[in-house]
Amino acid sequence: MPSFAPRRKDPTEPLLLGSRVVPLLMVRHLRARRYLLRLRPDGTARVTIPRGGTQTEARAFVERNRAWLEEQFQKLQARPRHPLRWHPGSEIFFRGEKFRIESATDGQIRFGSETLKVADTTTDLRPAIEKHLRSLAARELPPRVLAFAAQHQLIVARVTVRNQKSRWGSCSRRGTISLNWRLIQTPDFVRDYIILHELAHRRQMNHSARFWQEVERLCPDYLTAERWLKAHREFLR
Ligand SMILES: [Zn+2]
Repeated sequence: MPSFAPRRKDPTEPLLLGSRVVPLLMVRHLRARRYLLRLRPDGTARVTIPRGGTQTEARAFVERNRAWLEEQFQKLQARPRHPLRWHPGSEIFFRGEKFRIESATDGQIRFGSETLKVADTTTDLRPAIEKHLRSLAARELPPRVLAFAAQHQLIVARVTVRNQKSRWGSCSRRGTISLNWRLIQTPDFVRDYIILHELAHRRQMNHSARFWQEVERLCPDYLTAERWLKAHREFLR
């Protein structure tokens, strides 16, 4: 006879991880073949107990994988909170600075020097703001590329501003430089480094030692920009 009694709540116990206590959730799973451990995004450790397994064995399994769990926990802590939706109060990067989105009267929103009108300030503002940032980027980035190209006597066929998900820029063999509109969100020195990096590809279509020499010549402080990009990887997520 099937039982309709509510399933007993899976037991949780405190687990000391480094200097913190995290909840350890033990979940029995009849189809599981072995013990499994994972760290949930909310910081709860979850161990799956297979058919015939015991909580004692589960604890021993967690102990054996303690180093791995600590590493996962550190990664979780280090992950920047980059909100998927933007609302009044959300913080966004603009020209390398963090600004809070403020809502004004008449359906206007503000951040930094920018003011724009949106249909409804209570819905996700991200699409409208991104559209605005993208149009600023389309206006500002190409002249910047052409100015650097002229300064360094490099020929550029075309500049496009795009919505790349995994790269900041690219340079084709034919001399088209494509830049990510999100460069309007990074500090100016980072934006300039990406532009100069792509321009350096007009001399070296690779990432050889010679290429990096060229980058260093065009942008002596490029490592600082590389570090900024590394520390703000969440932009391209
Ligand atoms: Zn490159």
